[in-house]
Amino acid sequence: MDLEEKLSILAAAAKYDASCASSGSEGKAGSASGKSALGYRAAAGVCHSWTGDGRCVSLLKLLYSNVCRFDCAYCVNRVSSDIPRASFTSQELVELTVEFYRRNYIEGLFLSSGIFSDPDVVMEKLIQTAKALRTQGAFGGYIHLKIIPGSGERLIREAGLWADRLSVNIELPTSGSLKKLAPQKDGKTIFGAMGEVNETEREYGEDRKTMRSVPEFAPSGQSTQLVIGASPEDDRTIINLSGALYRKFGLRRVYYSAFMPADRGDPRLPDIAAPPLKREHRLYQADWLLRFYHFTPQEVLDGDTPFLDTLIDPKAAWALRHLEFFPVELIRASYEELLRVPGIGAVSARRIVEARRGGAFGAASRSLSFDRLRRLGVSLKRARYFITVAGTFIDRAGDSGKLRGILAGLDGEGLQLPLFDF
Ligand code: SF4
Repeated sequence: MDLEEKLSILAAAAKYDASCASSGSEGKAGSASGKSALGYRAAAGVCHSWTGDGRCVSLLKLLYSNVCRFDCAYCVNRVSSDIPRASFTSQELVELTVEFYRRNYIEGLFLSSGIFSDPDVVMEKLIQTAKALRTQGAFGGYIHLKIIPGSGERLIREAGLWADRLSVNIELPTSGSLKKLAPQKDGKTIFGAMGEVNETEREYGEDRKTMRSVPEFAPSGQSTQLVIGASPEDDRTIINLSGALYRKFGLRRVYYSAFMPADRGDPRLPDIAAPPLKREHRLYQADWLLRFYHFTPQEVLDGDTPFLDTLIDPKAAWALRHLEFFPVELIRASYEELLRVPGIGAVSARRIVEARRGGAFGAASRSLSFDRLRRLGVSLKRARYFITVAGTFIDRAGDSGKLRGILAGLDGEGLQLPLFDF
């Protein structure tokens, strides 16, 4: 099989993994490091190319092999799937990545693999590829390596020395669903690998406090992916799990990947006509609240319903359930209180606090203050029903039903969905 054919098979095989963002790393290389290294990214974490379905493609996203011993029901590469199979060699991957980089097609490599042999053997191949890229290829671009659950501690530690980011995919939110849909996987092994990455990150961080020249270990941290809609768990279960992963293992990102039902034909899977993309979108918004808006998982879904509202975003839904919290008076509100207001983001909340220090709002006229708010980045279309400035409301929507209708009408308008780190 020629390289082009392999590329076509193994790029298609990798496309269901959502974890393809690069972030927070200044670039690294082995023997050739820093700005002289090939692929050095002056601006960290730039992802600038997207597929039609919204997935990032600035990384060359490949499987080392789509040969797999496992039979995960939701995965096109499962052993029982009748698909063409292929495997790269490490050398082929190095040449391909360097060539793509030289042509300016990509900024880095995302490399995962099917479990074609023992986990240690598969992990060795991924590490060998990353190491050869850094050393032989003098590649300073971004590398995201998948940790193969079940691979040994030594290998996990070595992987982080060559990669910017590591990830261990959980895939399903409960051990019951793993048992049913991915019977060869188990939560204990997956969490064990995450714990190992986290512990090693911590150790390197500690060493850095007292020693010079400590090598970088996965400077972009670790992430994971959850498949949404292949198993029956509700959003509450998923959000609680994500919150626990951020707390316990210091994950940078949890990615949510809507289950793609096409051609699966497995009776263990739900019979759905289309991937639950709206649900995926809401989970990303809820996740954003956990990471940047100081919400707890319990606050994100503290109502009776186990699922996120499909008509309004999770922050607006929280505000409607907690109208007693509003109006928020902009002249006095803390940063944390400002973050709770629909239409005020982390950047605009910070700007408001800074502007107050500079004397804005106090002496200003009402219209000037509102105009100033717009310039500070506040979306007054949303915020107007939840704030006062010097005791004055901008607008009142009446009852919560009416307000819900207004917010539903604004849903998606002007909101940036923060799918990927930049
Ligand atoms: S281990 Fe499961 S999810 Fe991973 S490639 Fe094999 S079948 Fe797919």
